[in-house]
Amino acid sequence: MPKYIFVMGGVLSGIGKGIATSSIGKLLQLRGFRVTAIKIDPYINVDAGTMNPTEHGEVFVTEDGDETDQDIGNYERFLDTNIYRDNYMTTGRVYLSVIERERNLGYGGKCVEVVPHIPEEVMARIKKAGKKSKADFIIIEIGGTVGEYQNILFLEAARLMHYRYPNDVLFILLSYLPIPKNLGEMKTKPTQHAVSQVNAAGIQPDFILARGELPLDKPRKEKLSIFCNVKKDHIISAPDVKHILDVPINFENEKLSEKILKNLNIKSRTNKFSEWKKQIRKYQRLKKIVKIGIVGKYFATGDFILPDAYISVINAIKEGCNACGCVAQLEWIDSDIYEKNPLKVKEIYAYDGIVVPGGFGKRGIEGKIRAIQYVRENNIPYLGLCYGMQLATIEFARNICGMKEANSTEIDPETKFPVIHIISEQAELLKKKQYGNTMRLGAWPCVLDKSSKSFQAYKTTKISERHRHRYELNNSFREALVKKGLLLAGLSPDKNLVEIIEIPGHPFFVGTQFHPEFKSRILRAHPLFKAFAEAAKKRSEKK
Ligand code: GLN
Repeated sequence: MPKYIFVMGGVLSGIGKGIATSSIGKLLQLRGFRVTAIKIDPYINVDAGTMNPTEHGEVFVTEDGDETDQDIGNYERFLDTNIYRDNYMTTGRVYLSVIERERNLGYGGKCVEVVPHIPEEVMARIKKAGKKSKADFIIIEIGGTVGEYQNILFLEAARLMHYRYPNDVLFILLSYLPIPKNLGEMKTKPTQHAVSQVNAAGIQPDFILARGELPLDKPRKEKLSIFCNVKKDHIISAPDVKHILDVPINFENEKLSEKILKNLNIKSRTNKFSEWKKQIRKYQRLKKIVKIGIVGKYFATGDFILPDAYISVINAIKEGCNACGCVAQLEWIDSDIYEKNPLKVKEIYAYDGIVVPGGFGKRGIEGKIRAIQYVRENNIPYLGLCYGMQLATIEFARNICGMKEANSTEIDPETKFPVIHIISEQAELLKKKQYGNTMRLGAWPCVLDKSSKSFQAYKTTKISERHRHRYELNNSFREALVKKGLLLAGLSPDKNLVEIIEIPGHPFFVGTQFHPEFKSRILRAHPLFKAFAEAAKKRSEKK
């Protein structure tokens, strides 16, 4: 029988439930257990694919083509394991399958009700995902915060699981303890309220992870213990950290994994924590800085800058840099700026490398193309991801092949030179307004040209990478582009789709139709990001 650990959030969202979930998973994994994680999002959207990135953050794509939440990316990076479609559910997804089953007489003529049928469906999904991954521990993160109307049915599923398997289910509440400036004191009351909210749902937390600016002190630990009915040594400090990998390290300083195992009556199998920590500390001590710019457009929400839409790209760059013994100093560049003020693009000279990540639609496009022209002409290392590859192709067609109005039909459907155009099956889907989960998604194989930088990076000709797009390089322009020096460095096995472009002779100019960022892991940097970081490091050393 596997063990189930539910992680819930109290008081505030955005306090690091995903990182906490991933960290708990990592610590148990380091003790020799098979671990998987499940994300529950309370929204109605069936997946994250139809949401605007500034609204939702990154859409993380799994091997099997699910468009999920960025937390699935955290689990993959921390646990260094693939997470699949079954490990992600939303309110919409759960209801959809219950309604479909009802339409197919799957409930044998019964009246189908919110309770018990929705929580039953949630439980069935959790068990199925656990079984498929053959995990010893299944950690389930319930999105949102307790007390919200939206996640009540998920809490009910958690309660029922505990009722049925009391020895195999554990509850962890991640809560926030504010220190109001005018009081200068850490307050426990909001967390006490959060606990009474979960209590009202029939759940008693076994552990509290106390998020806050500072670690918990003794009096507050005692207060929380008494008023929340949680053992004192089950209240774990989770102060703000400079580096997210300090989160699992801090948890382990408070012996969290040992306490979880004890609570569930399980013996540790091994403990590889010190070994792992040593590697992390090695990365944290790196000093050499390379300056990388990300030219994007999904940064601003109101008055705040949130790079969440590019979270996997950011991590992949950091991991690539660490693997070459340096630290990435990342800066966000809003591509709109180069549209309004083309001369400003010169500032890019100060960077050691530029990344143009994925994106959709017209806004900010000309600014990105300007940035790409600048890095091409000034030998600045460039990595283009999906849209970043398509826009690099457009730039090359315009400025090297003389096709002045070259464009993607996504931007200008009437363009004379549609060097990027829609994949034919995709055009059919759009005509029928079938937008949800219909892009070219998930892992696809690709064959590399042996003369390419990509081949040098991967050290193999056969690779597989994750995709999320509707448009592709138009094969009728292949010849013209190649004639002027563009290298089609990676093709689909049937040679029909261009998956990677490169400019030979440039220090590093690689554009991928896929998203390599989804496969970078904390201690296993992605080969292309590592090669890009290596080139950026070289540039920084030359300066
Ligand atoms: N908008 C482009 C397409 O649909 C690129 C997508 C992306 O960058 N993920 O093909």
